[in-house]
Amino acid sequence: MKVLNEMKITFPSKSVNEGYARLAVAAFASQLDPPVDELADVKTAVSEAVTNCIVHAYPDRVGKIEICARIFEGGEFYVKVKDWGCGIEDVKKAMEPLFTTCKNGERAGLGFAVMESFMDKLSVRSKVGKGTCVVMKKKFSQRG
Ligand code: ATP
Ligand code: MG
Repeated sequence: MKVLNEMKITFPSKSVNEGYARLAVAAFASQLDPPVDELADVKTAVSEAVTNCIVHAYPDRVGKIEICARIFEGGEFYVKVKDWGCGIEDVKKAMEPLFTTCKNGERAGLGFAVMESFMDKLSVRSKVGKGTCVVMKKKFSQRG
């Protein structure tokens, strides 16, 4: 499918950048004139993916996060969130609702479940020691 428009940003895995990432993607997606609630879904999904990079991919250091967003012919919205952190041993298990490797009770284990329910498609590729790549897609409803 033809890419009509594309953006790419990289930033360090500091929690202060989570809001920036979410708004940058939303600003790009808004050229599709999405319904407000569907744009909010994208913001939430991106926020969950970026938070995972900050918290899990780079638990004890600041690393690089890359976000690439695309608009395809026909209006499909694509967003990729990538890190070069610790990676995930068992992706299938990590994506199960309520699964978390966080031991202190601070995390619910619902990030992937949120991404899955708020977007139309979610795919996760990961290699231990190499990093993780989360790709999400959504087709916004037409207004009017
Ligand atoms: P919550 O998102 O509800 O705060 P959580 O982050 O533990 O909790 P998920 O976002 O569903 O839950 O992620 C599940 C698990 O997958 C995490 O606990 C972590 O072990 C692993 N994980 C997710 N994203 C990454 C990543 N980018 N790098 C390394 N591990 C990850
Ligand atoms: Mg999470």
